[in-house]
Amino acid sequence: MILYEYANAIGQDSHRFVDLMPNGSLRNPSGNTRLLLGGYLIPDGRPLLANSDGDVVLHALTNAISGITCVNILGEIADRMVREDHIKDSREYVFVAMQYLKSWKITHVSFSIECRSPHLSTHIEGIRESVSDILQIPPHSVGITATSGEMLSAFGKGEGIMVFCSLTARRAYDSFQDSQQDTNPLLL
Ligand SMILES: [Zn+2]
Repeated sequence: MILYEYANAIGQDSHRFVDLMPNGSLRNPSGNTRLLLGGYLIPDGRPLLANSDGDVVLHALTNAISGITCVNILGEIADRMVREDHIKDSREYVFVAMQYLKSWKITHVSFSIECRSPHLSTHIEGIRESVSDILQIPPHSVGITATSGEMLSAFGKGEGIMVFCSLTARRAYDSFQDSQQDTNPLLL
């Protein structure tokens, strides 16, 4: 009999838009000129300030994967990838995080995005398909909701974008004893 162990993890991230620093000046050390969300290009979207491409959706996803693996990628490891190998493509951070999943399989991800702009309703499907392609899971296993935040937070006021990601993963065992001892998970 196959036994499945499930785990859920949450990841979060936020970035401010490049043209809205607190003192009103422009600062864009990354040189980002486009807005990517989940690896999907938002046409005419204001870019986000980051030392990477600023893909806040993929950063929240990376953190959620780290919530399963307990190996944190954003921070020291991703910073080193940017500094030493000039890797700014946030998909690469997701792929590095996934290397530590071992026998864990991602079964579902759900994103909650808060921003006043851009309006995301017409882009939700594109983001879902892009994330499903990155994770190699079906689009129906990628849920995305977006809220304007009603101007209550910095994100609702249009200063940046915040994303939460809830991720569900499972791994299989062929005996209860193995599952209890965290040994011999099946590679299903
Ligand atoms: Zn980030």
